[in-house]
Amino acid sequence: MPDGDELDADALEYHRAAPPGKLELATTKPTSSQRDLSLAYSPGVAAPCLEIAADPDEAYSYTAKGNLVGVVSTGSAVLGLGDIGAQASKPVMEGKGVLFKRFADIDVFDVELDQPDVDAFVETVAAMEPTFGGVNLEDISAPECFEIEARLRERMDVPVFHDDQHGTAIISGAALLNAMAVVDKDLADLRVTFAGAGAAATATAEFYTHLGVAPENVTMCDIDGILTSERAGLNDRVRPFAAEEGGDLADAVAGADVLVGLSVGGIVSPEMIRSMAEDPVVFAMANPDPEITYEDAKAARDDTVVMATGRSDYPNQVNNVLGFPFIFRGALDVRATDIDEGMKVAAAEALADLARQDVPDAVVEAYGDQPLQFGPEYIIPKPLDPRVLLEVAPAVARAAMDSGVARRTVDLDAYVGRLEA
Ligand code: NAP
Ligand code: MG
Repeated sequence: MPDGDELDADALEYHRAAPPGKLELATTKPTSSQRDLSLAYSPGVAAPCLEIAADPDEAYSYTAKGNLVGVVSTGSAVLGLGDIGAQASKPVMEGKGVLFKRFADIDVFDVELDQPDVDAFVETVAAMEPTFGGVNLEDISAPECFEIEARLRERMDVPVFHDDQHGTAIISGAALLNAMAVVDKDLADLRVTFAGAGAAATATAEFYTHLGVAPENVTMCDIDGILTSERAGLNDRVRPFAAEEGGDLADAVAGADVLVGLSVGGIVSPEMIRSMAEDPVVFAMANPDPEITYEDAKAARDDTVVMATGRSDYPNQVNNVLGFPFIFRGALDVRATDIDEGMKVAAAEALADLARQDVPDAVVEAYGDQPLQFGPEYIIPKPLDPRVLLEVAPAVARAAMDSGVARRTVDLDAYVGRLEA
Protein backbone atom coordinates (compact mmCIF):
# COMPACT_ATOMS: atom_id res chain seq x y z
CA MET A 1 0.00 0.00 0.00
CA PRO A 2 1.41 3.45 -0.88
CA ASP A 3 2.45 5.61 2.06
CA GLY A 4 0.34 8.63 3.01
CA ASP A 5 2.10 11.17 0.79
CA GLU A 6 2.04 8.90 -2.23
CA LEU A 7 -1.63 8.06 -1.67
CA ASP A 8 -2.45 11.77 -1.39
CA ALA A 9 -0.63 12.54 -4.63
CA ASP A 10 -2.38 9.68 -6.40
CA ALA A 11 -5.76 10.83 -5.04
CA LEU A 12 -5.22 14.39 -6.26
CA GLU A 13 -4.27 13.13 -9.70
CA TYR A 14 -7.26 10.73 -9.74
CA HIS A 15 -9.66 13.58 -9.02
CA ARG A 16 -7.99 16.19 -11.23
CA ALA A 17 -7.69 14.06 -14.38
CA ALA A 18 -10.03 15.46 -17.04
CA PRO A 19 -12.92 15.75 -16.55
CA PRO A 20 -12.43 16.88 -12.92
CA GLY A 21 -14.35 14.91 -10.30
CA LYS A 22 -15.73 11.37 -10.50
CA LEU A 23 -19.23 11.58 -11.96
CA GLU A 24 -21.06 12.76 -15.06
CA LEU A 25 -24.60 12.49 -16.41
CA ALA A 26 -25.52 10.05 -19.14
CA THR A 27 -28.63 10.11 -21.32
CA THR A 28 -30.71 6.95 -21.45
CA LYS A 29 -32.85 7.65 -24.52
CA PRO A 30 -32.00 8.28 -28.19
CA THR A 31 -31.00 11.88 -28.94
CA SER A 32 -29.67 11.68 -32.48
CA SER A 33 -32.57 13.05 -34.55
CA GLN A 34 -34.65 16.20 -34.45
CA ARG A 35 -37.61 13.99 -33.58
CA ASP A 36 -35.77 12.45 -30.61
CA LEU A 37 -35.11 15.94 -29.30
CA SER A 38 -38.74 16.98 -29.67
CA LEU A 39 -39.68 13.90 -27.62
CA ALA A 40 -37.04 14.55 -24.96
CA TYR A 41 -37.84 18.24 -24.67
CA SER A 42 -40.36 20.66 -26.12
CA PRO A 43 -42.94 20.05 -27.42
CA GLY A 44 -43.16 16.30 -26.62
CA VAL A 45 -42.13 16.60 -22.99
CA ALA A 46 -45.49 18.24 -22.21
CA ALA A 47 -47.22 14.86 -22.44
CA PRO A 48 -45.39 13.21 -19.48
CA CYS A 49 -45.66 16.50 -17.55
CA LEU A 50 -49.44 16.40 -17.86
CA GLU A 51 -49.56 12.74 -16.84
CA ILE A 52 -47.60 13.58 -13.69
CA ALA A 53 -49.69 16.68 -13.00
CA ALA A 54 -52.75 14.41 -13.02
CA ASP A 55 -51.07 11.72 -10.88
CA PRO A 56 -47.79 12.57 -9.11
CA ASP A 57 -46.93 8.86 -8.81
CA GLU A 58 -46.45 8.83 -12.57
CA ALA A 59 -43.13 10.60 -11.87
CA TYR A 60 -41.85 7.08 -11.25
CA SER A 61 -42.99 6.01 -14.74
CA TYR A 62 -41.80 9.01 -16.74
CA THR A 63 -38.72 10.36 -14.92
CA ALA A 64 -35.53 9.09 -13.28
CA LYS A 65 -36.89 9.87 -9.79
CA GLY A 66 -37.29 6.22 -8.80
CA ASN A 67 -33.58 5.48 -9.21
CA LEU A 68 -32.24 8.81 -7.99
CA VAL A 69 -30.94 9.42 -4.47
CA GLY A 70 -29.92 12.81 -3.08
CA VAL A 71 -26.73 12.59 -1.05
CA VAL A 72 -27.18 15.69 1.09
CA SER A 73 -24.59 17.17 3.43
CA THR A 74 -23.61 20.32 5.27
CA GLY A 75 -20.02 19.11 5.44
CA SER A 76 -20.11 19.61 9.20
CA ALA A 77 -18.79 16.17 10.25
CA VAL A 78 -16.84 14.77 7.34
CA LEU A 79 -15.13 11.41 7.89
CA GLY A 80 -11.84 11.99 9.70
CA LEU A 81 -11.83 15.68 8.66
CA GLY A 82 -14.50 17.26 10.86
CA ASP A 83 -16.30 20.49 9.99
CA ILE A 84 -14.71 21.32 6.64
CA GLY A 85 -17.84 22.94 5.22
CA ALA A 86 -20.12 22.21 2.32
CA GLN A 87 -17.79 23.02 -0.58
CA ALA A 88 -14.84 20.98 0.72
CA SER A 89 -17.12 18.01 1.37
CA LYS A 90 -18.06 17.68 -2.30
CA PRO A 91 -15.40 15.04 -3.14
CA VAL A 92 -16.81 12.85 -0.34
CA MET A 93 -20.41 13.23 -1.55
CA GLU A 94 -19.39 12.55 -5.16
CA GLY A 95 -17.55 9.51 -3.80
CA LYS A 96 -20.71 8.32 -2.10
CA GLY A 97 -22.37 8.64 -5.50
CA VAL A 98 -19.67 6.46 -7.03
CA LEU A 99 -20.37 3.76 -4.43
CA PHE A 100 -24.15 3.90 -4.95
CA LYS A 101 -23.60 3.48 -8.69
CA ARG A 102 -20.88 0.83 -8.49
CA PHE A 103 -22.64 -1.40 -5.97
CA ALA A 104 -26.35 -0.95 -6.69
CA ASP A 105 -26.64 0.97 -10.00
CA ILE A 106 -28.36 3.84 -8.20
CA ASP A 107 -27.87 7.36 -9.57
CA VAL A 108 -27.01 10.20 -7.23
CA PHE A 109 -27.14 13.96 -7.20
CA ASP A 110 -24.76 15.17 -4.54
CA VAL A 111 -26.16 18.24 -2.77
CA GLU A 112 -23.80 20.24 -0.56
CA LEU A 113 -25.78 22.84 1.37
CA ASP A 114 -24.08 25.78 2.98
CA GLN A 115 -26.81 26.01 5.61
CA PRO A 116 -25.95 25.56 9.30
CA ASP A 117 -29.45 26.50 10.48
CA VAL A 118 -31.49 23.37 11.22
CA ASP A 119 -34.90 24.86 10.31
CA ALA A 120 -33.66 26.26 7.02
CA PHE A 121 -31.81 23.05 6.18
CA VAL A 122 -34.91 20.95 6.82
CA GLU A 123 -37.05 23.28 4.69
CA THR A 124 -34.56 23.14 1.84
CA VAL A 125 -34.24 19.36 1.78
CA ALA A 126 -37.98 18.79 2.19
CA ALA A 127 -38.59 21.10 -0.77
CA MET A 128 -36.46 18.79 -2.93
CA GLU A 129 -38.86 15.86 -2.52
CA PRO A 130 -40.08 16.05 -6.16
CA THR A 131 -36.55 15.41 -7.40
CA PHE A 132 -35.54 12.33 -5.46
CA GLY A 133 -36.67 8.76 -4.81
CA GLY A 134 -34.73 8.85 -1.55
CA VAL A 135 -32.43 11.03 0.55
CA ASN A 136 -29.16 9.89 2.09
CA LEU A 137 -28.08 12.40 4.72
CA GLU A 138 -24.32 12.37 5.06
CA ASP A 139 -21.64 13.73 7.36
CA ILE A 140 -23.84 16.06 9.39
CA SER A 141 -22.69 16.64 12.95
CA ALA A 142 -24.42 15.43 16.13
CA PRO A 143 -26.69 16.40 17.78
CA GLU A 144 -28.22 18.40 14.85
CA CYS A 145 -28.24 15.26 12.69
CA PHE A 146 -30.78 13.60 15.01
CA GLU A 147 -33.34 16.38 14.73
CA ILE A 148 -32.75 16.86 11.01
CA GLU A 149 -33.31 13.21 10.24
CA ALA A 150 -36.36 12.89 12.50
CA ARG A 151 -38.04 15.94 11.00
CA LEU A 152 -37.29 14.99 7.40
CA ARG A 153 -38.56 11.43 7.91
CA GLU A 154 -41.75 12.91 9.27
CA ARG A 155 -42.11 15.44 6.47
CA MET A 156 -41.06 13.46 3.41
CA ASP A 157 -42.81 10.61 1.63
CA VAL A 158 -39.56 9.23 0.27
CA PRO A 159 -37.07 7.36 2.49
CA VAL A 160 -34.61 9.53 4.45
CA PHE A 161 -31.62 7.73 5.93
CA HIS A 162 -28.63 9.19 7.77
CA ASP A 163 -25.97 6.70 6.82
CA ASP A 164 -23.42 7.70 9.45
CA GLN A 165 -25.94 6.69 12.11
CA HIS A 166 -27.75 3.69 10.71
CA GLY A 167 -25.22 2.25 8.28
CA THR A 168 -22.78 1.66 11.10
CA ALA A 169 -25.55 0.34 13.33
CA ILE A 170 -26.73 -2.17 10.73
CA ILE A 171 -23.34 -3.50 9.61
CA SER A 172 -21.98 -3.79 13.13
CA GLY A 173 -25.36 -5.25 14.15
CA ALA A 174 -24.83 -8.02 11.61
CA ALA A 175 -21.38 -8.55 13.09
CA LEU A 176 -22.90 -8.67 16.58
CA LEU A 177 -25.44 -11.33 15.58
CA ASN A 178 -22.65 -13.51 14.22
CA ALA A 179 -20.24 -12.79 17.09
CA MET A 180 -22.93 -14.11 19.44
CA ALA A 181 -23.03 -17.35 17.45
CA VAL A 182 -19.22 -17.61 17.63
CA VAL A 183 -18.97 -17.08 21.40
CA ASP A 184 -22.32 -18.78 22.14
CA LYS A 185 -23.92 -16.00 24.17
CA ASP A 186 -27.47 -14.61 24.10
CA LEU A 187 -28.15 -11.01 23.09
CA ALA A 188 -30.56 -10.56 25.99
CA ASP A 189 -27.82 -11.32 28.53
CA LEU A 190 -25.07 -9.18 27.03
CA ARG A 191 -23.45 -6.27 28.80
CA VAL A 192 -22.49 -3.81 26.07
CA THR A 193 -20.26 -0.77 26.61
CA PHE A 194 -19.92 2.03 24.07
CA ALA A 195 -16.84 4.23 23.83
CA GLY A 196 -18.41 7.26 22.17
CA ALA A 197 -21.91 8.71 22.45
CA GLY A 198 -22.11 10.61 19.18
CA ALA A 199 -24.08 10.06 15.98
CA ALA A 200 -22.84 6.54 15.23
CA ALA A 201 -22.75 5.25 18.82
CA THR A 202 -26.24 6.51 19.63
CA ALA A 203 -27.88 4.92 16.61
CA THR A 204 -25.88 1.73 17.11
CA ALA A 205 -26.93 1.39 20.75
CA GLU A 206 -30.57 1.89 19.74
CA PHE A 207 -30.28 -0.63 16.93
CA TYR A 208 -28.72 -3.26 19.19
CA THR A 209 -31.76 -2.98 21.44
CA HIS A 210 -33.95 -3.69 18.39
CA LEU A 211 -31.84 -6.82 17.85
CA GLY A 212 -32.45 -7.96 21.44
CA VAL A 213 -29.92 -6.27 23.73
CA ALA A 214 -31.54 -4.96 26.93
CA PRO A 215 -31.26 -1.13 27.21
CA GLU A 216 -30.38 -1.40 30.89
CA ASN A 217 -27.36 -3.54 29.95
CA VAL A 218 -25.94 -0.79 27.72
CA THR A 219 -23.43 1.73 29.09
CA MET A 220 -22.30 4.72 27.05
CA CYS A 221 -19.18 6.83 27.57
CA ASP A 222 -18.07 10.07 26.03
CA ILE A 223 -14.95 12.09 26.66
CA ASP A 224 -16.14 12.82 30.21
CA GLY A 225 -16.81 9.18 31.08
CA ILE A 226 -20.01 7.22 31.71
CA LEU A 227 -23.25 9.00 30.77
CA THR A 228 -25.40 9.10 33.88
CA SER A 229 -28.97 10.28 34.27
CA GLU A 230 -27.56 13.24 36.26
CA ARG A 231 -25.55 14.44 33.30
CA ALA A 232 -26.52 17.96 32.17
CA GLY A 233 -27.64 18.31 28.57
CA LEU A 234 -28.28 14.62 27.97
CA ASN A 235 -30.17 14.26 24.68
CA ASP A 236 -33.35 12.17 24.51
CA ARG A 237 -31.80 9.55 22.28
CA VAL A 238 -29.13 8.51 24.80
CA ARG A 239 -31.32 8.93 27.89
CA PRO A 240 -32.54 5.27 27.85
CA PHE A 241 -28.90 4.19 28.23
CA ALA A 242 -27.94 6.57 31.05
CA ALA A 243 -26.42 4.80 34.06
CA GLU A 244 -27.10 5.43 37.74
CA GLU A 245 -23.42 5.31 38.67
CA GLY A 246 -20.68 7.31 36.99
CA GLY A 247 -17.09 6.35 36.27
CA ASP A 248 -14.55 6.35 33.48
CA LEU A 249 -14.26 4.21 30.37
CA ALA A 250 -12.20 1.58 32.21
CA ASP A 251 -14.97 1.23 34.80
CA ALA A 252 -17.55 0.80 32.06
CA VAL A 253 -15.50 -1.80 30.17
CA ALA A 254 -14.76 -4.02 33.21
CA GLY A 255 -16.93 -7.13 33.00
CA ALA A 256 -18.56 -6.15 29.67
CA ASP A 257 -19.19 -8.83 27.05
CA VAL A 258 -19.05 -6.37 24.14
CA LEU A 259 -17.07 -3.16 23.67
CA VAL A 260 -18.20 -0.95 20.80
CA GLY A 261 -15.77 1.84 19.93
CA LEU A 262 -17.20 4.73 17.91
CA SER A 263 -15.03 7.49 19.33
CA VAL A 264 -11.35 8.18 18.63
CA GLY A 265 -8.24 6.07 18.09
CA GLY A 266 -6.08 4.59 20.82
CA ILE A 267 -8.25 5.16 23.91
CA VAL A 268 -8.67 1.46 24.85
CA SER A 269 -5.77 -0.31 26.58
CA PRO A 270 -4.91 -4.04 26.69
CA GLU A 271 -5.69 -3.90 30.44
CA MET A 272 -9.24 -2.85 29.62
CA ILE A 273 -9.59 -5.80 27.23
CA ARG A 274 -8.28 -8.11 29.99
CA SER A 275 -10.95 -6.76 32.36
CA MET A 276 -13.81 -7.85 30.04
CA ALA A 277 -15.96 -10.97 30.43
CA GLU A 278 -15.02 -14.36 28.91
CA ASP A 279 -14.61 -14.45 25.09
CA PRO A 280 -15.08 -10.72 24.64
CA VAL A 281 -16.31 -9.02 21.48
CA VAL A 282 -14.44 -5.84 20.53
CA PHE A 283 -15.67 -3.64 17.70
CA ALA A 284 -13.08 -0.84 17.57
CA MET A 285 -14.48 1.27 14.74
CA ALA A 286 -12.88 4.71 15.08
CA ASN A 287 -11.41 5.62 11.70
CA PRO A 288 -8.69 5.62 10.55
CA ASP A 289 -7.14 4.43 13.82
CA PRO A 290 -9.25 2.09 15.96
CA GLU A 291 -9.71 2.52 19.72
CA ILE A 292 -7.29 -0.44 20.10
CA THR A 293 -5.39 -2.21 17.33
CA TYR A 294 -6.33 -5.66 16.14
CA GLU A 295 -2.94 -7.00 17.27
CA ASP A 296 -3.16 -5.50 20.77
CA ALA A 297 -6.73 -6.68 21.37
CA LYS A 298 -5.93 -10.21 20.22
CA ALA A 299 -2.70 -10.38 22.23
CA ALA A 300 -4.38 -9.14 25.42
CA ARG A 301 -6.06 -12.47 26.18
CA ASP A 302 -5.83 -16.24 25.72
CA ASP A 303 -9.53 -16.87 25.13
CA THR A 304 -11.42 -15.91 21.95
CA VAL A 305 -11.46 -12.19 21.16
CA VAL A 306 -13.88 -11.47 18.32
CA MET A 307 -12.53 -8.29 16.81
CA ALA A 308 -13.86 -5.95 14.11
CA THR A 309 -12.56 -2.57 12.97
CA GLY A 310 -13.33 -0.02 10.26
CA ARG A 311 -10.17 -0.96 8.38
CA SER A 312 -9.80 -2.98 5.21
CA ASP A 313 -6.37 -4.38 6.17
CA TYR A 314 -7.70 -6.51 9.05
CA PRO A 315 -10.44 -9.17 9.30
CA ASN A 316 -14.06 -8.13 9.87
CA GLN A 317 -14.17 -4.66 8.33
CA VAL A 318 -17.34 -2.78 9.32
CA ASN A 319 -17.74 -0.90 6.05
CA ASN A 320 -20.93 1.05 5.40
CA VAL A 321 -20.76 0.16 1.72
CA LEU A 322 -22.16 -3.23 2.78
CA GLY A 323 -25.37 -1.44 3.64
CA PHE A 324 -26.54 1.81 2.04
CA PRO A 325 -26.40 0.80 -1.67
CA PHE A 326 -28.47 -2.34 -1.09
CA ILE A 327 -30.82 -0.86 1.50
CA PHE A 328 -31.72 1.96 -0.89
CA ARG A 329 -31.95 -0.53 -3.78
CA GLY A 330 -34.57 -2.55 -1.94
CA ALA A 331 -36.39 0.57 -0.67
CA LEU A 332 -36.51 2.22 -4.11
CA ASP A 333 -37.67 -0.92 -5.87
CA VAL A 334 -40.81 -1.15 -3.74
CA ARG A 335 -41.19 2.67 -3.62
CA ALA A 336 -40.95 2.59 0.15
CA THR A 337 -41.99 5.78 1.96
CA ASP A 338 -39.47 5.15 4.74
CA ILE A 339 -36.58 2.96 5.80
CA ASP A 340 -38.09 1.64 9.02
CA GLU A 341 -36.67 -0.50 11.83
CA GLY A 342 -37.93 -3.71 10.25
CA MET A 343 -36.03 -2.96 7.05
CA LYS A 344 -32.86 -2.18 9.01
CA VAL A 345 -33.12 -5.40 11.02
CA ALA A 346 -33.79 -7.35 7.81
CA ALA A 347 -30.63 -5.89 6.26
CA ALA A 348 -28.53 -6.85 9.30
CA GLU A 349 -29.97 -10.37 9.39
CA ALA A 350 -29.37 -10.85 5.65
CA LEU A 351 -25.73 -9.77 6.03
CA ALA A 352 -25.25 -12.01 9.06
CA ASP A 353 -26.79 -14.95 7.26
CA LEU A 354 -24.62 -14.44 4.18
CA ALA A 355 -21.43 -14.56 6.27
CA ARG A 356 -22.41 -18.06 7.43
CA GLN A 357 -22.53 -19.39 3.88
CA ASP A 358 -19.63 -20.75 1.82
CA VAL A 359 -17.75 -18.00 0.01
CA PRO A 360 -17.37 -18.32 -3.78
CA ASP A 361 -13.80 -18.76 -5.08
CA ALA A 362 -13.97 -15.50 -7.05
CA VAL A 363 -14.58 -13.55 -3.81
CA VAL A 364 -11.75 -15.36 -2.01
CA GLU A 365 -9.44 -14.51 -4.94
CA ALA A 366 -10.48 -10.84 -4.86
CA TYR A 367 -9.24 -10.70 -1.27
CA GLY A 368 -5.80 -12.20 -1.91
CA ASP A 369 -6.75 -15.80 -1.21
CA GLN A 370 -7.06 -15.35 2.57
CA PRO A 371 -9.34 -18.09 3.87
CA LEU A 372 -12.89 -16.77 4.36
CA GLN A 373 -14.87 -19.12 6.52
CA PHE A 374 -17.42 -18.35 9.20
CA GLY A 375 -15.68 -17.88 12.54
CA PRO A 376 -13.99 -15.20 14.67
CA GLU A 377 -12.03 -13.84 11.68
CA TYR A 378 -14.99 -13.77 9.30
CA ILE A 379 -18.30 -12.59 10.75
CA ILE A 380 -19.22 -10.02 8.06
CA PRO A 381 -19.35 -10.49 4.27
CA LYS A 382 -16.77 -8.73 2.12
CA PRO A 383 -17.86 -5.59 0.21
CA LEU A 384 -16.84 -7.01 -3.19
CA ASP A 385 -19.00 -10.11 -2.71
CA PRO A 386 -21.66 -9.83 -5.46
CA ARG A 387 -24.11 -11.89 -3.38
CA VAL A 388 -24.60 -8.97 -0.97
CA LEU A 389 -26.87 -7.20 -3.49
CA LEU A 390 -28.89 -10.36 -4.09
CA GLU A 391 -29.41 -11.02 -0.37
CA VAL A 392 -29.80 -7.57 1.19
CA ALA A 393 -31.95 -5.72 -1.37
CA PRO A 394 -34.69 -8.41 -1.47
CA ALA A 395 -34.63 -8.75 2.34
CA VAL A 396 -35.18 -4.99 2.66
CA ALA A 397 -37.90 -5.01 -0.02
CA ARG A 398 -39.67 -7.88 1.73
CA ALA A 399 -39.54 -6.11 5.10
CA ALA A 400 -40.97 -2.94 3.52
CA MET A 401 -43.85 -4.94 2.03
CA ASP A 402 -44.43 -6.66 5.37
CA SER A 403 -44.55 -3.43 7.36
CA GLY A 404 -46.68 -1.58 4.85
CA VAL A 405 -44.25 1.21 3.91
CA ALA A 406 -43.91 -0.24 0.40
CA ARG A 407 -46.14 1.47 -2.15
CA ARG A 408 -45.53 -1.27 -4.68
CA THR A 409 -45.47 -5.05 -4.37
CA VAL A 410 -42.82 -7.08 -6.16
CA ASP A 411 -42.59 -10.82 -6.66
CA LEU A 412 -39.36 -11.56 -4.79
CA ASP A 413 -38.15 -14.43 -6.98
CA ALA A 414 -38.62 -12.37 -10.11
CA TYR A 415 -36.97 -9.43 -8.34
CA VAL A 416 -33.85 -11.46 -7.50
CA GLY A 417 -33.74 -12.54 -11.15
CA ARG A 418 -33.80 -8.89 -12.26
CA LEU A 419 -31.02 -8.00 -9.81
CA GLU A 420 -28.89 -10.86 -11.14
CA ALA A 421 -29.31 -9.71 -14.74
P1 NAP B 1 -19.23 12.02 16.73
O1 NAP B 1 -20.70 12.23 16.55
O2 NAP B 1 -18.31 13.18 16.72
O3 NAP B 1 -19.03 11.23 18.11
C1 NAP B 1 -17.78 10.99 18.68
C2 NAP B 1 -17.99 10.54 20.12
O4 NAP B 1 -16.74 10.07 20.65
C3 NAP B 1 -18.48 11.64 21.03
O5 NAP B 1 -19.47 11.13 21.88
C4 NAP B 1 -17.22 12.01 21.80
O6 NAP B 1 -17.50 12.51 23.08
C5 NAP B 1 -16.59 10.66 21.93
N1 NAP B 1 -15.18 10.76 22.32
C6 NAP B 1 -14.22 11.55 21.83
N2 NAP B 1 -13.08 11.37 22.48
C7 NAP B 1 -13.32 10.43 23.42
C8 NAP B 1 -12.55 9.83 24.44
N3 NAP B 1 -11.28 10.16 24.61
N4 NAP B 1 -13.16 8.90 25.25
C9 NAP B 1 -14.44 8.56 25.08
N5 NAP B 1 -15.22 9.11 24.13
C10 NAP B 1 -14.67 10.03 23.33
O7 NAP B 1 -18.67 11.04 15.63
P2 NAP B 1 -19.36 9.77 14.92
O8 NAP B 1 -19.84 10.17 13.58
O9 NAP B 1 -20.28 9.14 15.86
O10 NAP B 1 -18.07 8.85 14.68
C11 NAP B 1 -17.30 8.37 15.77
C12 NAP B 1 -16.15 7.52 15.29
O11 NAP B 1 -16.66 6.35 14.69
C13 NAP B 1 -15.25 8.17 14.23
O12 NAP B 1 -13.92 7.78 14.46
C14 NAP B 1 -15.73 7.56 12.96
O13 NAP B 1 -14.71 7.50 11.98
C15 NAP B 1 -16.10 6.18 13.40
N6 NAP B 1 -17.09 5.57 12.52
C16 NAP B 1 -16.77 4.39 11.93
C17 NAP B 1 -17.65 3.76 11.12
C18 NAP B 1 -17.31 2.46 10.49
O14 NAP B 1 -16.31 1.86 10.79
N7 NAP B 1 -18.10 1.92 9.61
C19 NAP B 1 -18.89 4.37 10.84
C20 NAP B 1 -19.22 5.58 11.49
C21 NAP B 1 -18.30 6.17 12.33
P3 NAP B 1 -17.67 14.09 23.32
O15 NAP B 1 -18.99 14.43 22.67
O16 NAP B 1 -17.71 14.21 24.80
O17 NAP B 1 -16.51 14.76 22.67
MG1 MG C 1 -20.23 9.41 6.28
